[in-house]
Amino acid sequence: MSSTQREIRVLRYDLRPRLLQVSKVDRVTPRTARITLTGPDLDGFQTHDYADHVKLCFPEPGAALPTMPTMGERGIVPPPTDGPQPIFRDYTVRRFDAAASELDIDFVLHPHGIAGRWAADAAPGDSLGVLGPRGSHLVPDDFDWYLLAGDETALPAIGRRLAELAEARPTARVQAVVEVDGPAEEQELVRPPDTRLTWLHRDGAEAGGQERLYQALSEFTVPDGVGYVWVAGESGDLKPIRRHLRSLGLDRRHYKVDGYWKRGVVNHDHHADDA
Ligand code: FAD
Ligand code: ZN
Repeated sequence: MSSTQREIRVLRYDLRPRLLQVSKVDRVTPRTARITLTGPDLDGFQTHDYADHVKLCFPEPGAALPTMPTMGERGIVPPPTDGPQPIFRDYTVRRFDAAASELDIDFVLHPHGIAGRWAADAAPGDSLGVLGPRGSHLVPDDFDWYLLAGDETALPAIGRRLAELAEARPTARVQAVVEVDGPAEEQELVRPPDTRLTWLHRDGAEAGGQERLYQALSEFTVPDGVGYVWVAGESGDLKPIRRHLRSLGLDRRHYKVDGYWKRGVVNHDHHADDA
């Protein structure tokens, strides 16, 4: 099959703010909380690709309800500057079950930001706003091989991708490389049998400012056939990786490197530095 047949299609959805409630909190690992959200507002929610993400809207610390965005014809209407502002952060749709009305988000528990702290304390009955996804980039299941890599913020998308490939294309050839704090942070992932999954450990070092992922990926040799590469993580860590992938001469449409957060930056805008 030629590469042009493996076109990445883009779907767009209506952007609707939803106010949801926490129904379950599961500590998948000591530093990962899987939070299940539910509520009548989930009606009509759509997600069709592993990297689909939503803007979660958090309550001010101490408040019960988030300040929700107001939507106009051109999207979010900026709230009056002297009033409360919605607090948004980007998160991956780890799992959505329309029949059960359940949306799972996997939160990295870190103490440095409002979202990481909210997730550490979240309990059933708590409220959270959800905006999006805006749309999906549908990456076909019939590439000859896949490389998926990133840190723990990328793991929800990698986990979803592996599970969906295992279902849709069990013969898929996949390499996955995930950087986490240590062995306790490794997750059991449903995946196609022909998956080589490598865990990299920071061994207590701070996330971000790491070269482990780059070093691991610089040893990657491009397999035969046409493949798709997806990498996400700390923005600075990804710079040499982006350069390296460029140097491999892959078709520009067949790799994506997405800065999911940035050391020292509140609410990093991933659209500002993705590629
Ligand atoms: P912020 O207020 O944004 O930042 C405060 C400080 O915390 C900053 O110094 C920042 O550098 C630091 N910080 C932020 N994140 C981390 C971290 N993970 N570890 C250590 N320090 C950090 N994250 C997930 O946990 N799960 C997901 O499914 C997920 N999906 C994402 C999908 C997309 C498309 C994008 C762009 C990001 C995703 N992220 C995900 C990353 C998440 O949006 C950021 O980590 C976000 O900054 C967290 O908000 P916060 O309020 O905790 O920290
Ligand atoms: Zn986005």
